[in-house]
Amino acid sequence: MLTTTLAGSLPKPSWLADSTHQLFAPWVAPADRLREAQDDAVRLSLFDQEEAGIDIVSDGEQRRRHYIWGFLDGLTGTDTIELGQKRTRGGRYVAQQGVARIVGEVTWPGSVMGPALAFAKAHTRRPVKVCLPGPMTMVDTTLDEHYRCDEETLAMHFAGLLNAEARALAAAGADVVQFDEPCFNIYLDKVKAWGIRALEAAITGVNCTTTIHICYSYGIPRVLAWKKQNTEWGQYGVTLPLLRETRINQISVECAASGVDVAVLEGAQGKDILLGVIDVGTEEVETPALVASRIRKALPYVDPGRLFPCTDCGLVPRTRGAARAKLSALVEGTRIIRRELGR
Ligand code: ZN
Repeated sequence: MLTTTLAGSLPKPSWLADSTHQLFAPWVAPADRLREAQDDAVRLSLFDQEEAGIDIVSDGEQRRRHYIWGFLDGLTGTDTIELGQKRTRGGRYVAQQGVARIVGEVTWPGSVMGPALAFAKAHTRRPVKVCLPGPMTMVDTTLDEHYRCDEETLAMHFAGLLNAEARALAAAGADVVQFDEPCFNIYLDKVKAWGIRALEAAITGVNCTTTIHICYSYGIPRVLAWKKQNTEWGQYGVTLPLLRETRINQISVECAASGVDVAVLEGAQGKDILLGVIDVGTEEVETPALVASRIRKALPYVDPGRLFPCTDCGLVPRTRGAARAKLSALVEGTRIIRRELGR
């Protein structure tokens, strides 16, 4: 009951990358020592999560510069060095953004995250989650210079590759495979038209717990500026009932820093809810009492057995100190509610 977990990423040590306050941070460790530095960072990341008392852990995404590139880099036909400019996320946060390019046939040469999963599993006894980008978000965050097909066709192609990866991860012992799909909060018409179908294709036959993470993006200044002026928070009201009809096991939602009314969670009954109770957009650390109050608000709508206290999104742009303290607050706040419920 009230199993704790995190959306995925944690900040990197400064000797690996200067990830604080920036996404896509380049590696600081020299190329010939990068693997060793990443291994050490993963061990520290697992230690921090265990010390805080997080139940389902990840490798903190210490081996990827960005949550989409981590998978794209392992495929053929992609370029994450010479970027292309594209309007992404419907232009919600910025007019144009540098994105990876599709420059050839995109194929899956074998498990991309498999070695990272094996390393994480060898260094923790806790259940391990691995995060992959969702098909719609991959389409939105790449510039297709090769197929030049419609988005739906490209999404279904990506879904096939993601499915191969997810099946391989499950077979290799991943406890949870999560698909990061923030675009489900933006392109509601596309979610209905093909997004749900692409997600279903990605999770077919995956023999472990499957999760979709739908947030309002990282806690970086341009996103925070958008959130501050946004007044329409009804997106989950559309997507959760659609997801309820799918075979996805868990839905991860941003509820701490958004203006979402948690009553909307009623529309996802029967699914596990990863409830965002940690704001990833500020260095200010929540008190356990504040975390507890956020969990309490959701209890009328989600059975405690299906409620997983979680972070709103990745903690990668935060300082390491704030991230560690936020994980502790997440666990302490959850313990308050467990005591209240007498378990
Ligand atoms: Zn997120």
